[in-house]
Amino acid sequence: MTTSTEGSRLNPLHHRPGDPTYAARHRLPDAGMDPLTAFHSVRDETMLDGNARLNLATFVTTWMEEEASELYREAFDKNMIDKDEYPQTAAIEQRCQHIIADLWHAPDPDTAPATSTVGSSEACMLAGIALKRRWQQRRTDTGKDTSRPNLVMSSAVQVCWEKFCNYFEVEPRFVPVSEEHPVLDGSALDAVVDEHTIGVVGILGVTYTGAYEPIAEIAAALDAIERERGLDIPIHVDAASGGMIAPFLQPELEWDFRLARVASINTSGHKYGLVYPGLGWVVWRDAAALPESMVFRVSYLGGDTPTLALNFSRPGAQVLLQFFLFLRLGREGYTAVQGESQRVALHLSSAIGDMPAFALVSDGSTIPVFAWRLRPGHTKNWTLYDLSDRLRMRGWLVPAYPMPDDLAELTVQRIVVRNGLTIELADSLLDAIREETAYLDALTSPLPHPTAHPAFSH
Ligand SMILES: *Cc1c(COP(=O)(O)O)cnc(C)c1O
Repeated sequence: MTTSTEGSRLNPLHHRPGDPTYAARHRLPDAGMDPLTAFHSVRDETMLDGNARLNLATFVTTWMEEEASELYREAFDKNMIDKDEYPQTAAIEQRCQHIIADLWHAPDPDTAPATSTVGSSEACMLAGIALKRRWQQRRTDTGKDTSRPNLVMSSAVQVCWEKFCNYFEVEPRFVPVSEEHPVLDGSALDAVVDEHTIGVVGILGVTYTGAYEPIAEIAAALDAIERERGLDIPIHVDAASGGMIAPFLQPELEWDFRLARVASINTSGHKYGLVYPGLGWVVWRDAAALPESMVFRVSYLGGDTPTLALNFSRPGAQVLLQFFLFLRLGREGYTAVQGESQRVALHLSSAIGDMPAFALVSDGSTIPVFAWRLRPGHTKNWTLYDLSDRLRMRGWLVPAYPMPDDLAELTVQRIVVRNGLTIELADSLLDAIREETAYLDALTSPLPHPTAHPAFSH
C-alpha cells in the first residue's frame, strides 16, 4: 500500500547543494530541486517498467527511427487544435486523412470527412455518436420516438465500445462468441437488430485473437434484413489494428468503403500505423454519414475550418510523425514492414502449434497477432497463467487471459508481433517457451494459485 506520507530518498550521487535528500511522492514538495536531480529521480524510477522490446502484450508502437525522434523533439510543443498558429501541421493532418481515406477506398478521399484523434477510443466515440445522431434524425423525421437506442456488436469488442455505450447512453447488444461462431459473422444479426439499432460494429482484428470479422458477410446479412424488414442499419468498422494491415497484406479483402453499408472506419495510428502513442484516425464515407451538428468551426488562416473531437488541446507531433512514415515508407515500405511482422508471427505460431502442449486458436495470417490454448487434456498441473508468469521472470510479457462470455472457460495466451521483434528474438522466445513448458510438464502435482489472474485487460 502506498500512502501520502511515503517518499523517496534521493541518490546521493545525484544530490546537488541545496537539494532536499528526500522527495515526497504523493504531495507537492514545499521546495524544488535541481533539474538534473529531478530528472535522475524520475528516470531511475521508470527503469522498473518492463522492457518494451520484450513486451509482446501491447499493440502500441514502442520504437521509431532516430529521424522520427528528432522530428518529435522539434514538434512536441505543437497543439493540434491551434490550426491558425500551425497551419502547416493542420495541412499535414488533412493530407494524412486523404491518404487514409484513399487506402480505405472512400468514394471521394479528398472530401470524405475525417479527423485525427488521441487514439481509436476517441475515434470510436465520435463514430458512435454519429451513428446515434443519424438514427435520432431518421426517427424524428418520420415522427418516431428516439428512446432506447442500441448498438450491436460481438462480445469480444474492445472495452472502448462498452465505454461508448455507458457514456453516451446506448444499450449494448452483445452477440456472444462461441466455438461455432468465434467472431461476429452475421448469422445472429436478424435476432438482435430492431428499429432502435443505431448500427453494427464489425472488428478488423479482434484484440483477443487477431481474427478479422467478415465485414462483407455482416453487410450481406444487413442487406437481407433491409430487404425483409425495411431496416437500413449502417456498419462501423473498428479497424484499430487491421486498418493499417489489410490495405497492405490483404488488398483483395473487401472490408472497407468498397462495401456500401460501411459508414465509418477507425484505426490507431499508434498501432500498425507505426507512430508513437497517442494517435487515432476516423474517416466517414461521405458528408451524409457525419451529422453536420457534430462539427465545430475553429479559426484557420482567417477563415474557419471544421473540427470534431472530444478533447480541445492535443499534441500535434504524432500527426507529423504519421506523415513522416507515409513519406518514408510509401506503400512498398508499409507492405514490407507489415509483411515482415507477419512472417515472424507465422514462424512463431507454427512452432508453438507444433508443441504437444498447445493448440492454436489463430495463426497470425490476418494481423500479425495470434493466440493459443492448452491442448485439451494435456495437463491438470498448470495453466497458461503459470507459463505467462514463468516467461515474465525471463523478461518476456506474453499475457494469458480468458475469452469473453460464452467462451470464458477458455484461457488463451497471445503474442502481438510488432516491427522490431526479429526472427532472432522470436527464436529465443521459442527457446524460453520450450524450456518453461518442459519445467511445468515435469511437475508431479498441480501448482498452487496464490495470485489473482488474469492481470490483463482488453
Ligand atoms: C486497441 C483497440 C482499441 C482502442 O484503441 P486505442 O488506440 O488504444 O484507444 C479499440 N478497438 C480495437 C479493436 C483495438 O484493438
